[in-house]
Amino acid sequence: MQAFLGLGSNMGSRLEALQRALDLLSTEAGIRVQRCSRVWETDPVGGPEQDDFLNVVLEIDTDLTPHDLLAACNRVEAQLGRTRDVHWGPRTIDIDILLIDDLTIADGSLTVPHPRMHERAFVLLPLLELLPDPVLPDGTRLMDVRLPDQPARLAFPPLSIPA
Ligand code: ATP
Ligand code: CA
Ligand code: CA
Repeated sequence: MQAFLGLGSNMGSRLEALQRALDLLSTEAGIRVQRCSRVWETDPVGGPEQDDFLNVVLEIDTDLTPHDLLAACNRVEAQLGRTRDVHWGPRTIDIDILLIDDLTIADGSLTVPHPRMHERAFVLLPLLELLPDPVLPDGTRLMDVRLPDQPARLAFPPLSIPA
């Protein structure tokens, strides 16, 4: 299956956290990282006053079930010291599942497509680098969604994908 993950960091060494998360994801059984967007720096959206984020979107190929993929993402977050104190607060790393093929999932622990992705420039801009014309399972074309007016800057070297 093809899936897209959205990663964000706004604490500590942000670029290093993104690279380490990519590396750890690619060592997870059943996950192969195929492509990575550029690194975008974005102003925080929602939540308390906090530092700017670095964000990327990854395209992965996976044999995992959606819930096993979520568990793998949570494991990598934990390895990078992610804690959940403040809702939408600062984090060393956040890994969200954006899309998994054309699956629609909505249960207590997992919602795919990610329900807030189309409101977030920090997801849409990097996703559009990897998919020029993304279409959600319900037929929504993200090209038709008004891009949110949220500051985003490209000023960082790209991450590297382990061989
Ligand atoms: P947001 O979901 O608005 O981006 P957040 O990333 O800060 O907020 P978290 O605290 O990281 O929220 O996640 C809360 C819970 O969301 C997770 O424990 C997970 O079970 C659930 N969840 C539901 N759908 C998804 C998804 N598509 N990707 C990642 N987590 C999800
Ligand atoms: Ca998130
Ligand atoms: Ca999350």
